[in-house]
Amino acid sequence: MPVFDRFPPVRGVLQAKADLAKKSRFGVGGPAEILFIPEDVDDLVFFLRNVPEDCPITVLGAMSNVLVRSGGIDGIVIMLGNWFKKVFVEDCTIEAGAAVSCTELSTIATDSELGGLEFLMGLPGSIGGALKMNAGCYGSEISNVLVEFEAVSTDGRIKWFKVSDVDFGYRTSGIPDDVIITRAWFRCLQNVDYIISKKNNEIVKKRMDSQPLNKRSCGSTFKNPEGKKAWELINAAGCRGMKVGGAAVSEKHCNFIINDGSATPEDIECLGIKVVDEVQRVTGIKLEWEVIRLGK
Ligand SMILES: Cc1cc2nc3c(=O)[nH]c(=O)nc-3n(C[C@H](O)[C@H](O)[C@H](O)COP(=O)(O)OP(=O)(O)OC[C@H]3O[C@@H](n4cnc5c(N)ncnc54)[C@H](O)[C@@H]3O)c2cc1C
Repeated sequence: MPVFDRFPPVRGVLQAKADLAKKSRFGVGGPAEILFIPEDVDDLVFFLRNVPEDCPITVLGAMSNVLVRSGGIDGIVIMLGNWFKKVFVEDCTIEAGAAVSCTELSTIATDSELGGLEFLMGLPGSIGGALKMNAGCYGSEISNVLVEFEAVSTDGRIKWFKVSDVDFGYRTSGIPDDVIITRAWFRCLQNVDYIISKKNNEIVKKRMDSQPLNKRSCGSTFKNPEGKKAWELINAAGCRGMKVGGAAVSEKHCNFIINDGSATPEDIECLGIKVVDEVQRVTGIKLEWEVIRLGK
């Protein structure tokens, strides 16, 4: 049976053997067996209600926290397109589609003279990915400003979650793996325009000063263990600058693994495993991956 005959007739994009490397922040990775970019939420619901049950489903955002192995991802990969990039501001509440970038949300809040979302400036992920990861920095996490979100389950039912329904923690959300976040509502603070802009600029400067932003990476590779900084442990273990193939532990921020342009996903993963082993050998602490490794 031709591959697409197995799938419902959608209005969005359905593509076989879709290249994911170009979309990934690491710039590497095998293909998606089938990529689906729904036209809108109705298309997503229709697809999920009619897709064969034996097809695994993976959702990806801006791919700024995932490493896809060279063999690619079996089954269906769902990525949300332009329809999910809408933003509405009403008083102190902002509604954002799950494909809106964190930086764009922060910029819109600033332009609307609303505070509280400054920390999202320069964070490369989408709102969907940021909620799933409970992304955060400089003392704030996205769950601190979230009111509620809408999602579609992989069997095609629309669900609503209040922030209190979900068990958010450090770089973890407890959001079930079988839902695709479609939009979210955030509560902001009424603030003065120039104060917010100043805070945004400070955050961008901090990132530029401390992170290798001109290199391909997925940000922090490992979570900070309780009471410790992953980068300090990596530094103490002598891993700064360590290399495997085209992957290197960044000299500028040693919790970042960077692709020098020639790395394979396996170089990156092998290097990460070497760092975990070396840090454990020297410090006795086992680092936990923050970057999600997917595929075969
Ligand atoms: C230079 C750089 C700096 C970074 N700095 C930070 C930082 O300061 N703080 C921080 O927390 N992170 C940081 N990150 C990591 C990354 O930006 C965040 O984890 C971000 O939230 C990931 O969002 P994404 O859209 O790229 O998700 P992806 O990487 O595509 O996916 C991450 C996870 O979210 C899931 N997901 C994505 N979209 C959806 C959806 N719509 N519904 C359900 N699940 C979904 C995926 O299945 C996957 O499990 C940085 C990354 C880079 C490259």
